[in-house]
Amino acid sequence: MYIIRTEASFDSAHFLAGYDGKCRNLHGHRWRIVAEVYAETLHRDGQLRGMVADFGDVKRDLRNIADHYDHALIYERETLKESTIAALSDEDFPLIEVDFRPTAENFAEHFCLMLKKKGHNVKAVEVYETPDNCAVYSCV
Ligand SMILES: [Zn+2]
Repeated sequence: MYIIRTEASFDSAHFLAGYDGKCRNLHGHRWRIVAEVYAETLHRDGQLRGMVADFGDVKRDLRNIADHYDHALIYERETLKESTIAALSDEDFPLIEVDFRPTAENFAEHFCLMLKKKGHNVKAVEVYETPDNCAVYSCV
């Protein structure tokens, strides 16, 4: 199996509702996403001969995902009061509601599915919350 790996990152805030520890508080991370795309055999012809996939295509789609989540407050549905959401929206702060607890593990799965929908043969996605800690979702 051949694997190519590319990465992108974004800066955003989140919090973990219902968590008994400091991560329950609003805080930010530089989220680093590392995506692996695989192929059992390399392209035999044309522009992609000798390649797993076009690095540029994978990188563009991963970059688009990172850009979407950049400099936003990411929160799980029904974990903020309507009045809080209204107040933050009124200040024009970018808010992104997700239907999962915004952990590195869930982001890894979510980003994997987003890349698969774009047609990539994703093997795994790693999401780093800090340089030392990452979650890996294996997509195969
Ligand atoms: Zn965190």
